[in-house]
Amino acid sequence: MNRQAKIIRQYELVERVMGYDPNADEDALNRAYVFAMKAHGSQTRASGDPYYMHPIWVAWLLTSLKLDHKSIITALLHDTVEDTLTTLEEIQRLFGPEVARLVDGVTKLSRIELQNIGEQSESTKQAENFRKLVLAMSEDIRVLLVKLADRLHNMETLQFLKPEKRRRIARETLEIYVPLAERIGIQRWKDELEDLSFREMNPDAYESIKIRLDEMEKVGAGRVDRIIDELKKTICLGNESPIPEAEISGRRKSPYSIWRKMHAKNVAFEQLSDVMAFRIVVDSVGECYQALGTIHGRYPVVPGRFKDYISTPKPNGYQSIHTTVIGPEKQRIEVQIRTRDMHEVADMGVAAHWSYKQGVTPADTPKTEGRQYRWLRELLDILEHATRPDEFLEHTKLELFQDQVFCFTPKGDLIALPRGATPVDFAYAVHSQVGDTCVGAKINGRMQPLRAHLQNGDQVEVLTSKNSSPSPDWENFVITGKARARIRRFVRTQQRDEHIKLGRGLLERVFRQEGYEYSEKAVEGVLKIYQQQGVDDLLAAIGAGQTGARDVFNSIFPGHRTITPAAADEKVAAAVAAKAKPRKGTGTPLAIRGLIPGMAVHYARCCHPIVGDRIVGIVTTGKGVTIHTIDCETLESFHDSPERWIDVSWNPDASMTEDMAGRLSVVVANETGALGNLSTVIGKNGGNITNLKITNRTSDFFEMLIDVDVHDVKHLTNIMAALRATPVIHSVERGR
Ligand code: MN
Repeated sequence: MNRQAKIIRQYELVERVMGYDPNADEDALNRAYVFAMKAHGSQTRASGDPYYMHPIWVAWLLTSLKLDHKSIITALLHDTVEDTLTTLEEIQRLFGPEVARLVDGVTKLSRIELQNIGEQSESTKQAENFRKLVLAMSEDIRVLLVKLADRLHNMETLQFLKPEKRRRIARETLEIYVPLAERIGIQRWKDELEDLSFREMNPDAYESIKIRLDEMEKVGAGRVDRIIDELKKTICLGNESPIPEAEISGRRKSPYSIWRKMHAKNVAFEQLSDVMAFRIVVDSVGECYQALGTIHGRYPVVPGRFKDYISTPKPNGYQSIHTTVIGPEKQRIEVQIRTRDMHEVADMGVAAHWSYKQGVTPADTPKTEGRQYRWLRELLDILEHATRPDEFLEHTKLELFQDQVFCFTPKGDLIALPRGATPVDFAYAVHSQVGDTCVGAKINGRMQPLRAHLQNGDQVEVLTSKNSSPSPDWENFVITGKARARIRRFVRTQQRDEHIKLGRGLLERVFRQEGYEYSEKAVEGVLKIYQQQGVDDLLAAIGAGQTGARDVFNSIFPGHRTITPAAADEKVAAAVAAKAKPRKGTGTPLAIRGLIPGMAVHYARCCHPIVGDRIVGIVTTGKGVTIHTIDCETLESFHDSPERWIDVSWNPDASMTEDMAGRLSVVVANETGALGNLSTVIGKNGGNITNLKITNRTSDFFEMLIDVDVHDVKHLTNIMAALRATPVIHSVERGR
């Protein structure tokens, strides 16, 4: 329906509401319609149309979500308090306190829009708008639904405004209303708002995509319909397990979604093959998978595009199966499969819960809402703590607008984290104590390194150990503020403890070497010289390498003649101090980060880790840490002892003085000169063969393990690439 020119008549609107909710207050609806018309009187819109057409259209839009009559009445009245002489008291008297509260909420939001004319910076304004919006809707999400419908109708009638204003409104829509529509799951409004904004913000791109889509339509005239027909034959009448009741629909994708895809994949329009999407709606979950089986059995599947949002719903409650196949006309098509109930939620999102049949008091809302709208509470949390509006927006853009990952605790509680978050972030999000004592994590039942990136839908089980504490290395990979702050605080105190311990050890040793009994009393005597408050402070300074242990000793016993050469001892101290401060040490940085100071390191012989490999450490009491590559099969045997896993990584600051042995498994043709060829290629590429073992020999091939000294994984990869390019060499892999 053309929403710009047509007037919705009173009876049309009221009949439509009564049609889906026979118990709606017909009298109040009628009164609200008339009230809005009278209140706006002769006011006109920028288009020249009577103003009252706008609230009536907003109400009409909301009937498509089958909202309760109070929402519809609110829509009819939404501009009266702001733009006419009507007061809230009047509305309360005529339509009751609930409608008055809702109208008030929408009015507040409209006032925010007016403030835009002020002098605040663009981002401050936007942040402030958003903040108010969230606050208002947190009281009753119907306020947001009315506001979204209002925005949708305004976007549809944008062409009558001045260009700058149009662009500003479009951008605000794209940055604030679209994500909110998505968050509450109203897909159809999200798509419409997105397309309308895109058209305004980027008219050239919009036009050119539209023209190409139209051209395609001409060339493949009726293609969507033909594909629907064939899908119907396949699904509804197919030979194997037909589903006669399945409903199949199709559409071409919107210009905005195509544009976004062109951007994300950095491809031209011509390279985009799936511009059509089809939907199969069936009765039960069983039939969803049945239909999926039929589609996958009939058409070639495009790998990497299958997504099962039925078993793992999106955080806004969306459920569906998505897959992409080479469809009937040899074209890539996206197919979505879902049940009728899922379809309703997909289309209407939160409105599906707020429709007339659910009742409308927050207490009645389904239990899932608590979890689903947790982000709203989190936003409010940030709101309370953010001091400046733009700071708030910064937070929100990070936490809300950028992609997030949603993970689950073993009990099924949802934890929302920024994309790129790790199990450590997850642990701190659950509870600070859990973060502080976490020693490992099982993701979807498998032990994974603490630096792993969590994916949407991951179930994360954090393993803790009472005596464990945060590792300084975590700070390098956590991405949430909470985790980082806790780790930093901990590391600071812990580092001091370490330094005190180390300082005392160093000083005690000098005492011993010189034949004295160590005593703190003696140290107290020289505190002033070093301008330190207490003994611990001086010991910490020694441990941190700022003050020499021997200097302190010499200050305590000025007349003493040194037995051990001082220089040698200081060297030891410096080396130990460097170990205690792996990231800022003055000595040679360690090759590996995340180790416990003073712990011995071995490289596993099973997987031969080299610089650049992703690695993990396994602690063996009395032996130190053994470094394995993350995919080493040996790690399987440590799955039951998570307390032995430590997170380590190569230290990019360390200059590796020695090469490391990388192991290659090579298959070479059994012919003259082949082995010579092999060693020449390795030598030419700077590798040094230290060991070579033939593991199998047939008349055609040698299989062998070769240990090659290399600088790092890149070096090894170069050698492997060179070997692969050599004709006599059949295959090259990293050896085990
Ligand atoms: Mn309005």
